[in-house]
Amino acid sequence: MAAAGAAFGSNTYRNGAHRSSVKADGKSLAANQSFKSSSSASSSSASSSFKSRSLQFRKSSPAALGGANGAAKDGGGVPGRVRVAVRLRPRNAEELAADADFADCVELQPELKRLKLRKNNWDTDTYAFDEVFTEFASQKRVYEVVAKPVVESVLEGYNGTVMAYGQTGTGKTYTLGKLGEEDTAARGIMVRAMEDILGDISLEADSVSVSYLQLYMETIQDLLNPSNDNISIVEDPKTGDVSLPGATLVEVRDQQNFLELLRLGEAHRFAANTKLNTESSRSHAILMVNVKRYVKEKDPVLPMENGSNSHSAKTFKAPIIRKGKLVVVDLAGSERIDKSGSEGHTLEEAKSINLSLSALGKCINALAENSAHVPVRDSKLTRLLRDSFGGTARTSLVITIGPSPRHRGETMSTIMFGQRAMKVENMLKLKEEFDYKSLSRRLELQLDKLIAEHERQQKAFDDEIERIHAESEMQIAETDRKYADALEKERIKYQKEYMESIKKIEEQLVGDQQKHDNDSATVSHNDYYSNGEVSSISALDEVADLKKLLEKETILKKAAEEELTNHKRQLYQSKLMEASATSEILKLRKLLEDESRQKQKLEGEIAILQSQLLQLSFDADERRRQLDRTGSGNDSNDLDCLTAQVKNPQLSDSENGEKASVAKLFEQVGLHKILSLLEADDADVRIHAVKVVANLAAEANQQKIVEAGGLMSLLNLLRSSDDETIHRVAAGAIANLAMNETNQELIMAQGGIRLLSTTAANAGDPQTLRMVAGAIANLCGNDKLQTMLRSEGGIKALLGMVRCGHPDVLAQVARGIANFAKCESRASAQGAKTGRSLLIEDSALPWIVQNANNEASAIRRHIELALCHLAQHEVNAKDMISGGALWELVRISRDCSREDIRTLARRSLSSSSTFKAELRRLRMDY
Ligand code: ADP
Ligand code: MG
Repeated sequence: MAAAGAAFGSNTYRNGAHRSSVKADGKSLAANQSFKSSSSASSSSASSSFKSRSLQFRKSSPAALGGANGAAKDGGGVPGRVRVAVRLRPRNAEELAADADFADCVELQPELKRLKLRKNNWDTDTYAFDEVFTEFASQKRVYEVVAKPVVESVLEGYNGTVMAYGQTGTGKTYTLGKLGEEDTAARGIMVRAMEDILGDISLEADSVSVSYLQLYMETIQDLLNPSNDNISIVEDPKTGDVSLPGATLVEVRDQQNFLELLRLGEAHRFAANTKLNTESSRSHAILMVNVKRYVKEKDPVLPMENGSNSHSAKTFKAPIIRKGKLVVVDLAGSERIDKSGSEGHTLEEAKSINLSLSALGKCINALAENSAHVPVRDSKLTRLLRDSFGGTARTSLVITIGPSPRHRGETMSTIMFGQRAMKVENMLKLKEEFDYKSLSRRLELQLDKLIAEHERQQKAFDDEIERIHAESEMQIAETDRKYADALEKERIKYQKEYMESIKKIEEQLVGDQQKHDNDSATVSHNDYYSNGEVSSISALDEVADLKKLLEKETILKKAAEEELTNHKRQLYQSKLMEASATSEILKLRKLLEDESRQKQKLEGEIAILQSQLLQLSFDADERRRQLDRTGSGNDSNDLDCLTAQVKNPQLSDSENGEKASVAKLFEQVGLHKILSLLEADDADVRIHAVKVVANLAAEANQQKIVEAGGLMSLLNLLRSSDDETIHRVAAGAIANLAMNETNQELIMAQGGIRLLSTTAANAGDPQTLRMVAGAIANLCGNDKLQTMLRSEGGIKALLGMVRCGHPDVLAQVARGIANFAKCESRASAQGAKTGRSLLIEDSALPWIVQNANNEASAIRRHIELALCHLAQHEVNAKDMISGGALWELVRISRDCSREDIRTLARRSLSSSSTFKAELRRLRMDY
């Protein structure tokens, strides 16, 4: 059982409607004055409206509940007069016997809805009611006319009251509370009302709950729980709304359920009255039925402006609930209590028993007379029924009377009560409110759903990004590989074509020569043959034959001569062809060179992206170019032949492995002879010799070359030669040799830095600068040579080379600086170095800062590393801050795509107190 407080406490008045209706006690004066049903004069219109009202109600909406007043609707509600029907009980057995000779004291005119009360034998008074039920009126008709319109209002969300008033024994309980278990037709209003309610509501969504109470001597008892014998009335100070929080409230699910509650209530009522030594006719029985319904949305929800689905719009609309309350009141008998106390009551008791009923009469009088003061607060009954009379409820009253002339006085007073009640005007108000609690529950649910959905989508999105990222990286790698493959294929194709064309021309030449030789042999054989013929025939014939032969011979000779001329012409032509083939070869060679240049350019671009492979790429490229041109020395071990080979690369057989050919050359010719060619008079020979040496320097022969004085010779070439090509190739060779630590020391010892610096200062070709920078960059990576390298101008030379702006050169410069910075930071860490970085001393910092975010990754990467290394030594910090390097470090620590460098940068930043102080000063959080 739910606590009654839940139902009453959350009672249903909306927007202060109830409060305004309470105030309407005063205002209702005006409403009542315009109400026409006063006494007999307006009887027909009043009574007809009762019936037609019920019919009309079934067809129309609650807003049309205008009743006889024509539905003048104001903002506060619709007028609804209290409807009153009179019901006459049939004569009972006693009356049939005792009053057999007397006429009834009333005469009914149901068709006119009038009642005539006999004054005496010759005079009657006539009263009009909303309905007049004779003793033959069925329970069903009484329900349909009196209660059904009220029940329907309750189902629509209004409050409703059905009340019976009359002398004890006139049929109040029969009309309202009869269960009709033996005879269905005898069922009273309570049973029928609940049947209609349960038939109309939806048991899933809506709810019906009841309380059943007895009011006796100003005490409210709970008929559903007798231990609750003093329930107090609570009034909401804001709305004036009345509730009984202490009353038991039982949810009703079916009719049987309800009947049991009524039986239980009746039993408790009987027991209570026995205990109090009273009769049920002295107490009021009050049944309260609370109907809570959800309003079904009829209007389709408009889609929201931004086009989002209507689902969300619907979600934010609080459901509307309507809470109608039906109160059925079986009043105590209206007869006067004998004030003499003959019934066993003291006078005080008698006053108290009558208090509620007489207070009700006073309130109705006041309302009927439009009195300014309605004494609602005088009794518990009037407080409970404040909404039923002069309030917002639809109210129907049945007054019950008996036929006996012996009770004419009581009958008369009952009729007068009914007449006055008919003048009471209520303002019906819909008890509708928004169910914010259920909206909040629904929104919470939806929110949780959305949060979960969002989380799922976020995860899917992250996965997708990761997948796309991986895919694109794979595609980039694939494209790189394809590109390299295509490049290599192209190179091999051209080489092959070139070799094949040479072979073809040679074959043609040999073929022509052979043909020529064969033709000459044929001619001499014919001569011999003719001589033999002459010696074997007779004289006469001989002459003729000889003549013939001579002629023949002459013809043959001529033919042979022609043939010879032909051959000569052919020979000439083939010589011409040979010449054109040679020029063709030259053209092809040029094409090949163009192609190779183009390839170099593309490889340069790849090199920018792949900084780590830059130096190796250069070596391989240089070696390939050398081999393309020098080829391999076949069988010759002659020095001139080598020179010829070096000078005529087109004759070399480059189909053999390049390495094998160089090794062969080295083996056959001897290193010393090759090195001696470096000093040859012929500039071409010198250049090619340098290329061969450079090639060898890239092989595993470095030590032998150095031992044979090759390094010295290469350095000498830098010193003595003016030829840029020689400078370029020699520097390349030195760069190769400079990869080895021992060689680095030798290069330094032989003044290599100064020579490289001078070469750099004079060079214009970016490739030469690239070689020189590469060589110095290698030297920069030697821990032992730091000071010397710097004092001989190595750093300045590196920085000088940035003038050319070629990205390959810049990448080498950056590599050199990074190498140098790395060695320095190593030395600092070991305590071998204490002062400022020599790079800073030599003013490298501005260039470093300027290129720290160079778009070429090969440059940027080295510079980033250099900055990290510089930052690790506190003595550099000040210069770095003033030179703007701190910003770059911060950027690297945040944005660098390589995690190891990011970590290095962060470590550098956090290990330096100077940096930290500066970052704090700039309010940068680190
Ligand atoms: P009340 O509640 O007003 O004191 P009851 O309902 O107890 O009166 O009625 C008294 C008696 O009269 C009961 O026995 C009841 O069955 C009977 N009675 C009342 N009204 C009718 C009626 N319209 N038809 C038949 N019997 C009736
Ligand atoms: Mg009764």
